Amino acid sequence: MAVFINEECINCDACVEECPNTAIYPGGEPYTLAEGTSLQDDTEKEALAEDIYYVVPEKCTECVGAHDEPQCIEVCPVDAIEKDPNNEETQDQLQAKYEKLHA
Ligand code: SF4
Ligand code: SF4
Repeated sequence: MAVFINEECINCDACVEECPNTAIYPGGEPYTLAEGTSLQDDTEKEALAEDIYYVVPEKCTECVGAHDEPQCIEVCPVDAIEKDPNNEETQDQLQAKYEKLHA
């Protein structure tokens, strides 16, 4: 399961540097899969949100592989980050995803 950022986000930027996979971006800014990972795809992709920070699901492992708990959820001052029930993955799938991101 990846996490997502809801409309409570106050754009404080605290979560970005906590992410081991560089999966969090400011609203309106493009993302790449390659940034912060060993993936090769460095094409800029359209932002997934305009006015609030957003998480790239392909790069979020719920922090599996790096930390015991999702670090972004721990630091968000307004509880704007939630696990996404529409994006469910097992612990093993998340671990495999992390290993692929950092091969
Ligand atoms: S849960 Fe972890 S991997 Fe996912 S966006 Fe938050 S800090 Fe990044
Ligand atoms: S820490 Fe929370 S409020 Fe701050 S940018 Fe991240 S999601 Fe938004």
